[in-house]
Amino acid sequence: MFNKILIANRGEIACRIIRACRELGVKTVSIHSQADKDCMHVKLADQSICVGPASAAESYLNIPSIIAAAEISGADAIHPGYGFLAENTYFAEVCQACGLKFIGPSKESIEKMGDKIAAIALMKAAKVPVVPGSDGSVDAEDPKIFQIAQKIGYPVIVKATAGGGGKGMRIVPSEESLKNAIILAQTEAKASFGNPAVYMEKYVEEPHHIEFQILGDKFGNVCYLPERDCSIQRRHQKLVEESPSPYISEKLRKVMGKAARQAAKAVKYVTVGTVEFLVDKKGHFYFMEMNTRIQVEHPVTEMITGIDLVKEQIKLAAGEKLIIHSDKIKILGHAIECRINAEDPDRDFIPSPGKIGQLFLPGGPGIRVDTHVYSGYTIPPYYDSLIAKIIALGSDRQEAIARMSRALKETTIENIKNTAPLHQKIMANERFAKGSVATDFLPKYIFNEADKK
Ligand code: ADP
Repeated sequence: MFNKILIANRGEIACRIIRACRELGVKTVSIHSQADKDCMHVKLADQSICVGPASAAESYLNIPSIIAAAEISGADAIHPGYGFLAENTYFAEVCQACGLKFIGPSKESIEKMGDKIAAIALMKAAKVPVVPGSDGSVDAEDPKIFQIAQKIGYPVIVKATAGGGGKGMRIVPSEESLKNAIILAQTEAKASFGNPAVYMEKYVEEPHHIEFQILGDKFGNVCYLPERDCSIQRRHQKLVEESPSPYISEKLRKVMGKAARQAAKAVKYVTVGTVEFLVDKKGHFYFMEMNTRIQVEHPVTEMITGIDLVKEQIKLAAGEKLIIHSDKIKILGHAIECRINAEDPDRDFIPSPGKIGQLFLPGGPGIRVDTHVYSGYTIPPYYDSLIAKIIALGSDRQEAIARMSRALKETTIENIKNTAPLHQKIMANERFAKGSVATDFLPKYIFNEADKK
């Protein structure tokens, strides 16, 4: 096991990792920007080092500063969390070259799954079902795009090969808007990821976003855990996640879980990762991408399996053997996670940073809150707007929804516009209560309130 881990991240995930390290008896070093000196992760870690000014580029993405912090503090491993450098192959390589264990998969695995076009080709070869698509990047100036889209069949979706966070995506209903959509997606992809490459695939209508947590060890063992349903999204970004999915049968869980394991094995995956699929109206499933890191929504899986995924991730990175078997997992109930973002839902979700007044977070039976904020804390404007995750566990879905509604009602975050009231609306929605909602649920039934027509 490691002696000291440096956490190259901030906020709730940095706190989550510190807690796992403490339980494992591993010392922790956090890093922070000048703007984050009062953040909870700085207070929770055994030691914290300032790595630069407020801008992420100069602090949480500043590889030389982070490596220097690890060396000065005597850390022997680096946990990247999610976002920032978590899926950066160069960072993984630099860690290795400096004798620091990167807590994640090998740089080769990250590389193979990081480029969506390459990942899709690899999955096809591994016999994992993929969405019919362009088999490579497309360019707006190439006249062949019309033929390719015709062959795939409209509607198609244009996606960034380096994509993430739902950026660089455009749905194209017919050929009139194809060229323009590609130009817009390329521009957005260049601005967001520095890589303008985009590709096309069939737009799966009313899809369900279903993903599988996988764990792998250096001996080639891979297991999968019960699926998460992340179909409640706003602009292709997840807002609510739950496990197990009300849409997936026991039989489909097994088939998809095995496909996820196959996907992970194809890249010799070590530590924890997530294989994402889309499932259509007929129950056909398609590989979408693999995230080679711990995910925001990992707590729902932890709640229903009793497995501490971050501790497992650290143990697997330290070279331990995987002892979890997919077939032996018992589902302990139903869990739902609501992402509380400091955003104003009435003003198109613009970020709402600033000083929190009184803060009261919920508790009681079945409620877990992962957060880094506290009364009087000032949310800086520079980073992600996620301020808390409320997770509810119930003996069944109905109880999980009731607990979440109750927890959301207890929540008070003074002075900061946030998504808690929106989550209350979702929890109270009859369609949601029935289960099986697709990714069009939020725009169709919460924002436009089609139910009330
Ligand atoms: P990102 O890496 O930006 O998160 P993903 O490939 O994971 O992008 O897709 C994010 C979301 O976009 C999916 O959960 C789904 O809602 C939507 N999406 C992506 N591809 C398709 C598709 N082919 N058909 C329908 N929806 C899609």
